[in-house]
Amino acid sequence: MMPLRRFAIHRPADLREAAEMLDHYGENGSLYAGGTELLLAMRHDLLRYAHLIDIKTVAGLDGIERRDEHLHIGAAATHRTIERSAVVREQLPVMAEMAANVANVRVRATGTLGGNLAFAEPHSDPATLLLALGGNARAQGKSGERTLAMDELLAGAYENSLAQDEILTGVDVPVPGPSQRTAYLKFQVHERPLLGLALSLELDDDGGVIREARCAVGCVSPTPCRSATAESLIAGPADSLEQRIEEAGEALADEAALTDDREGSAEYKRHLIGVLLRRAARKCLNGNG
Ligand SMILES: Cc1cc2nc3c(=O)[nH]c(=O)nc-3n(C[C@H](O)[C@H](O)[C@H](O)COP(=O)(O)OP(=O)(O)OC[C@H]3O[C@@H](n4cnc5c(N)ncnc54)[C@H](O)[C@@H]3O)c2cc1C
Repeated sequence: MMPLRRFAIHRPADLREAAEMLDHYGENGSLYAGGTELLLAMRHDLLRYAHLIDIKTVAGLDGIERRDEHLHIGAAATHRTIERSAVVREQLPVMAEMAANVANVRVRATGTLGGNLAFAEPHSDPATLLLALGGNARAQGKSGERTLAMDELLAGAYENSLAQDEILTGVDVPVPGPSQRTAYLKFQVHERPLLGLALSLELDDDGGVIREARCAVGCVSPTPCRSATAESLIAGPADSLEQRIEEAGEALADEAALTDDREGSAEYKRHLIGVLLRRAARKCLNGNG
């Protein structure tokens, strides 16, 4: 690893000042939160910035709160904060459970949700889960605020769709009602997940019928993806889901356009998708994986 090149750190007082700094420094400046991705890439000389704009100190950017029917999680909230948050554990336990299994405790204590999503590293756990949960990202730039769906924010591997002066301020996740069940499962051998899979089911009042399904697979494509075919196959009588799940897994794997790479063959990843989807369905319906 190379020694870090010299850079200046700036501490904006608020988001408006942060957006102005981003605009002012242009390609020479970057936002900086936990630094777990950014500083590593700078040490390897993959990224070069003379100015880092530290947004951790912007008041309220790490807040977590219920806002009407959504749970708002601030972009500067660390994975550890999300994992331990009483409100997340109570209102969106699957998010707390997912956060508890991101990386190691050192990365979780410093790395933020906003940094994870903005860096758009394909092996992201939160991106896959948030896609299945219907979470939206909020971004603030010089000219105002806008909302982006997860698949709008993630433009490709290591590529987000934020404008030069835009800052991710947080995500809004719909709080699940009593008839919604969600599971997130991942398979991991090395430092980062090889595959992540999220399934969210909306059941009818007596739990016998799956009214709506959302499923997403991540880590195996540049960005996580959903499959409309898989979702319509999963919807239907809950007690016969086992008979439809294999075809749904195939459809989800087709959508992910799997390729052979150093993490495994496309066939291996297809098999894992089938296994994790079946386990996620069992977890949603019976509470066990
Ligand atoms: C050893 C290791 C293991 C890991 N394992 C996992 C894993 O199992 N699962 C998983 O999901 N992730 C994993 N990660 C990724 C980890 O989640 C991220 O490194 C972390 O969340 C990044 O957050 P950060 O605050 O450190 O971002 P930084 O490094 O500070 O920033 C990353 C990028 O995001 C930009 N950025 C930061 N905040 C914002 C914002 N609010 N708005 C716009 N742009 C912003 C920065 O400009 C930079 O380009 C791992 C990382 C490491 C190093």
